[in-house]
Amino acid sequence: MGIDILGRLTLFYYICNMKKWSTKHKECVKCNTKEIRHKAKGLCLKCYEKNRDIDLQKKRLHQIEYRKKHIEKVRKSQRDYKAKRKKEIHTLLGCECIKCGFKDSRALQIDHINGGGYTERKQYNKSPSKYYKNILKSIINKENKYQLLCANCNWIKRYENNEIKRK
Ligand SMILES: [Zn+2]
Ligand SMILES: [Zn+2]
Repeated sequence: MGIDILGRLTLFYYICNMKKWSTKHKECVKCNTKEIRHKAKGLCLKCYEKNRDIDLQKKRLHQIEYRKKHIEKVRKSQRDYKAKRKKEIHTLLGCECIKCGFKDSRALQIDHINGGGYTERKQYNKSPSKYYKNILKSIINKENKYQLLCANCNWIKRYENNEIKRK
């Protein structure tokens, strides 16, 4: 008998503790229940877990957004860097096509005087900034490897030198 009473008492305390509510909150601030155990911040266990899932989702979304923004930032700075280097190279090479004098930088191309531009560009595929840096270095060192050609003159040169790659 004695053990039975003790057992019942333990069970009673256990249930009391299960339903114990925070001293600050009378009931769950979300669903107004007192039936489910209080977890934290005035929330019952169910509401707390629901809230945590939403928080996690928000956090994950925020991370994805942040990464997206960050990538855009990185790409923009890469674009800016490339544009800057390109402008420097154009300036050093005279800002016009050496064959016909065409001046619009949008259609001016950096030409490898002795060919091999395709392989060189491929080599730097993963690091275009390095590619431009090397060209700049070469020009400053007066290696005479590069010249400016407009797109038309560049294509004509490729045909004349048999540099066209047929796919
Ligand atoms: Zn609740
Ligand atoms: Zn030209």
